[in-house]
Amino acid sequence: MYESKKVKNPPLLNTLPIWYHSIYTDGIHPDARFPRDRYTKLVHKLLYSEFAPNIDIRTPKKISRQNLLLAHDEYYVDKFLNGELDEKQIKRIGLTPWTPEIIPRTLMLMGGAVGALEHVIENGGIAANLAGGTHHAHRGFGSGYCIFNDLAVCAIMALENINFNRVVILDLDVHQGDGTATILEDLESVLTISVHCSKNFPFRKTNSDFDLELEPGAEDEEYLEVVKRAIKITTNFNPDLILFQAGVDGLKSDALGKLNITREGMRRRNNLVFDMIKKQSLPTVIFMGGGYSKPISDTIDAFYDLFADASLVNLEL
Ligand SMILES: [Zn+2]
Repeated sequence: MYESKKVKNPPLLNTLPIWYHSIYTDGIHPDARFPRDRYTKLVHKLLYSEFAPNIDIRTPKKISRQNLLLAHDEYYVDKFLNGELDEKQIKRIGLTPWTPEIIPRTLMLMGGAVGALEHVIENGGIAANLAGGTHHAHRGFGSGYCIFNDLAVCAIMALENINFNRVVILDLDVHQGDGTATILEDLESVLTISVHCSKNFPFRKTNSDFDLELEPGAEDEEYLEVVKRAIKITTNFNPDLILFQAGVDGLKSDALGKLNITREGMRRRNNLVFDMIKKQSLPTVIFMGGGYSKPISDTIDAFYDLFADASLVNLEL
């Protein structure tokens, strides 16, 4: 049973709610270089696994324009919503060629994060969005496969709730959470922590509250020591909420990663985070983050471990 003074209503069922919609895949053009099938393949693998009874797939609602404006400039939001971004802005985001479905996809994907956030605000425990972690999106422009910043929107939304005064964004994706850091730089109630490879995208880094860097080629033990430091920083801040960007692009086989983390190392990483969440009964939202392994099955296996292990944690909370 979940026991936290911060949460009023314990969950009736301890399944892991995961927000997901087929548009997460279908809203990306089939010719795009982005491995769009990773969402459908992952959900299929989870739902045909022994963990299926622990998982509750929820359908996202589209995020409102008003919630996008919490973290983004009106000019940029409206240009995107009207399908008026120019070629240069689209090129910086990637996911090209674009289909008109990119607009509803983006709104659903952001809505999935909001749904998971609202769930943990109400019930505690862990909830997840099976996409997102769009940490390269800035206030007035998108970048690196990220259009709007779900982490920043959720952090600001959480603070509107009286019981949530301190939020940690724990970003363990191999790329720096540059957009998140910039959008939230003046908010002292949100601590941004980014563990990433020093020589990787974005090449012009911004300043998170804590940037913990690894050199290319780093392996499991070195990586896990840095993750332990990030967890210590997290607990020292005494947060009410964790937003966990759980990208698995640090895997050795990842095409965009440059680190040499094994599947088992990635799993140990996740469980270091989950142990902290269990010990402190911390409401947590999981954002999927990056993963571009060749073969893509390595990415899917690592995300499968993430959600499967998260479902076991929720059973214990
Ligand atoms: Zn990444």
